[in-house]
Amino acid sequence: MYVINDNCISCGACVPDCPVSAIVEGDGKYTINGDCISCGACVPSCPVDAIVEG
Ligand code: SF4
Ligand code: SF4
Repeated sequence: MYVINDNCISCGACVPDCPVSAIVEGDGKYTINGDCISCGACVPSCPVDAIVEG
């Protein structure tokens, strides 16, 4: 499971990289929901390294 931390600037760049559409816009930042299969594809797309294993 991956999570998005408070470094997220809500740029949305990670959204199209997720094969199961698990990244959704949340309150003040984007979040990863329970559909995440922990593939890691979204991690390199984040400009502020906000996506981490959690
Ligand atoms: Fe989607 Fe993979 Fe990122 Fe999980 S780790 S949110 S499945 S791209
Ligand atoms: Fe947030 Fe990073 Fe995703 Fe942009 S790419 S929405 S900063 S987690």
